[in-house]
Amino acid sequence: MIWSKIETLSRQEIEKIQLERLQETVNRVYEKVAPYRKKMDEMGVKPQDIKTLKDLAKLPFVTKQDMRDNYPFGLFAVPKDKLVRIHASSGTTGKPTVVGYTQGDLDTWTECVSRIACMGGATPKDVSQICFGYGMFTGALGLHYGLENIGSAIVPSSTGNSEKQIMYMQDFETTLLVATPSYALRLAEVARGMGVDPIKDLKVKIALVGSELLTEAMREEMHKYWGKDVLVTSNYGMSELMGPGVSGECEYLDGMHINEDFFIPEIIDPVTGEVLPAGEKGELVITCIKKEGLPLIRYRTKDITRLIYEPCKCGRTFVRMENLSGRSDDMLKIRGVNVFPSQIEEVILSFNELGPHYEIIVEREGYLDKLTIKVELNFTTDSFKELERITGEVKAKIKTVLGLDAKIKLESPNTLQRFEGKAKRVKDLRSK
Ligand SMILES: [Zn+2]
Repeated sequence: MIWSKIETLSRQEIEKIQLERLQETVNRVYEKVAPYRKKMDEMGVKPQDIKTLKDLAKLPFVTKQDMRDNYPFGLFAVPKDKLVRIHASSGTTGKPTVVGYTQGDLDTWTECVSRIACMGGATPKDVSQICFGYGMFTGALGLHYGLENIGSAIVPSSTGNSEKQIMYMQDFETTLLVATPSYALRLAEVARGMGVDPIKDLKVKIALVGSELLTEAMREEMHKYWGKDVLVTSNYGMSELMGPGVSGECEYLDGMHINEDFFIPEIIDPVTGEVLPAGEKGELVITCIKKEGLPLIRYRTKDITRLIYEPCKCGRTFVRMENLSGRSDDMLKIRGVNVFPSQIEEVILSFNELGPHYEIIVEREGYLDKLTIKVELNFTTDSFKELERITGEVKAKIKTVLGLDAKIKLESPNTLQRFEGKAKRVKDLRSK
């Protein structure tokens, strides 16, 4: 089901809407948001210089640091009394980033998430269990209102109480699950522990996963735990831009359609800031063109992807962004080599003997970085020979993929930490 006709407009029609909304937004922020005006004046660019979509590249970038520097409301384009909701990022270091919504922004958000949910297969008949933490985090409420808007029945079960979550799934006949991939796997484990087979005894047919990367290997793992015919789609967003609903995968699972009438994507070289030609891989930059409260222009997401303009079989014309291979924030530099945790995950999940639970530890010994990967076995064994064989094979594959030596530690099933929200699998102990 395609939620809105706008999702199938021609490129020319989409670009016409984008240019009008961009010009309106730039005018407004120049007038209302002092830090923007200052930046634009410093670069010698005025709102009237934005004559085509290409002129977007003349405008300054906004980063998370700009949001912190203007904490809490300095980048807002409306007075505080026009806001109806405030969210904030977790902010592991220092102040969080604060985002605010007018009623119009909430309506936009709901529209965007409704589209994404339909792309992932949701219908008014679904019973949708939202296993994201409700609170300052935008994930839960974003999905909540979007799914409610299409007529699905919402079970706002949040995170935790995993046994009760399984009970709800059984008794309410939940068909749609919203969770991080790692918590979805955890819930399947808990179900099995209760003697409930997630594939036979539960009715989940759709999983909308987000907040963590969904690698293809992890999607496979989701199918192993929840069944082959469950449609597992990832969706993308971040609170700075709105929350979930910026883009999402359709049933063809070939990149996430961006809601282009609300967001303009660009791909830049993360080092030089230059806009890259269509189809090249680089850092995703997003401009919000229909936000009232916090209309960020050229926000640097730090996510690495590329844009796919070829038509999609689903009939939507909105450009797709390739599923993320990594956030530049998550990238580790180990002995001079760039390593994305997702690369290690792909190796681990390519072994049938290993489960999807792992931990990456990076330490410094003398002047040398040391990489240790702890991973759970899928079965119990006392055979030293068997353990030695698996260890050797994982080590060799890591060496081939990353070009690095790693110490592999195999752990017994169900011993590593489980996560209800975004999994924290990397421990970089080098700075301490
Ligand atoms: Zn599609």
